[in-house]
Amino acid sequence: MVNSQGEFAFVLDGFTMEIKTKAKNICNYLYEAGSPYNKGKVHRQYLYKGIYILIFVAGIFPTRDFKDVTRIDLSLFMGKELILFDIDNTLFYPESTKIRKDILAWVQKVKKKHRCVCVSNSFSIQKRKDAIEKILGISVFVSPYKKPSRKLFTALQKTYPYPGEKMVIVGDMRFTDILFGNKNKMMTLLVSPLAPEVLFTLKVSRIVENVLVWMLRLF
Ligand SMILES: [Mg+2]
Repeated sequence: MVNSQGEFAFVLDGFTMEIKTKAKNICNYLYEAGSPYNKGKVHRQYLYKGIYILIFVAGIFPTRDFKDVTRIDLSLFMGKELILFDIDNTLFYPESTKIRKDILAWVQKVKKKHRCVCVSNSFSIQKRKDAIEKILGISVFVSPYKKPSRKLFTALQKTYPYPGEKMVIVGDMRFTDILFGNKNKMMTLLVSPLAPEVLFTLKVSRIVENVLVWMLRLF
């Protein structure tokens, strides 16, 4: 379901199948384990849907969250081999090559001690790639696959052969950056977006994220 509309479509792609298989396996296990009690009481379908939602929801919660990248304590990166940075609304203003001076200074500090790479889902990244690499001095990894696709992780590992546990992802979107990191066992650091979204699909995605998190806080 890769279209030219924006990031949200990817959430509905390959990951959905993977989650469904996982949910089904857990559901079958629980159903069999509790079968003397559950038969006729809990319908397998409801159990399966509930687990599916739980797995998805668990994936959008970061290890830590911060107001912006400059608040991230650098000691968190100790022992990690690769730091992945989202671009839009994490380091740069959305769909631009504009960066705040304090953010740039912070990135320079990180870059001295750690191997870093930028990964973006933006469709304008090809156009901005060279400028961004020049500003940051960090390469931008371009791939036909987008976050949170597992195929992106496989592609990334060809250049950066580290296990997910040795990576950190820093990003502003739960459905793409955080889900991608959690799926691949990375440390996930969520930052608040620098500015309002400019793309319609991302505006919608942001609203869905906020509503979901707000609802979960009620429990
Ligand atoms: Mg972003």
